[in-house]
Amino acid sequence: MECFHGKPAACSTTARGTFWFCGETPSCEFFCHDEDCYLFTRAMEACQNSGSNHPICPTHQRLAKLRVVKDKMKENYGRPFFTCSDRHDPCNFWQWGDIYESPRPRCKHGMVCTVRKVKKEGPTQNRLFYCCPQIDSCGFFEWKEIEPRVAKTGFVLFSDPLEYRYKNEDTEKHSLVLTLMLRKRMKNSLRNMNNCNKTK
Ligand SMILES: [Zn+2]
Ligand SMILES: [Zn+2]
Ligand SMILES: [Zn+2]
Repeated sequence: MECFHGKPAACSTTARGTFWFCGETPSCEFFCHDEDCYLFTRAMEACQNSGSNHPICPTHQRLAKLRVVKDKMKENYGRPFFTCSDRHDPCNFWQWGDIYESPRPRCKHGMVCTVRKVKKEGPTQNRLFYCCPQIDSCGFFEWKEIEPRVAKTGFVLFSDPLEYRYKNEDTEKHSLVLTLMLRKRMKNSLRNMNNCNKTK
């Protein structure tokens, strides 16, 4: 198990089980239970493939903590996300880890901005913008551009659907989708072949 530093994570066993965590200073806030190593390895890969930087929570100005959706019943099972890493008074920072997010700008205080949504009715309603994270705002304001979504990792997309390949053993749901796709594709090519034979 490696942390965000690309260094072997430290390991510790307590009454609650075995844990892996970042052993570097300053910490990259990596922390996972031994049982979740597989999920976290995949999640880290997804984060790295997204091309985003490790997010920093605006309130505490510290590296956010990687988490994974662990509820198998959820559509987003296995997806990485980041939350505030402060143990005593965490803020409500939240961000997906597998989607490209350009680094947030810094306000006039030099702090990482917060993202807010326009609530007022009008043409800009629901648009996202960056602003100063401090209660005593410096007045910084910048619109957030809509960014492209990076495909979720687990499989790599090729131009030829027959070459859809899975980088990792994926959930049954994904392999089912693949099987169905291949089956459809084969049916179509068989049909085309039959049509060709007929025309001959
Ligand atoms: Zn680390
Ligand atoms: Zn925070
Ligand atoms: Zn500011």
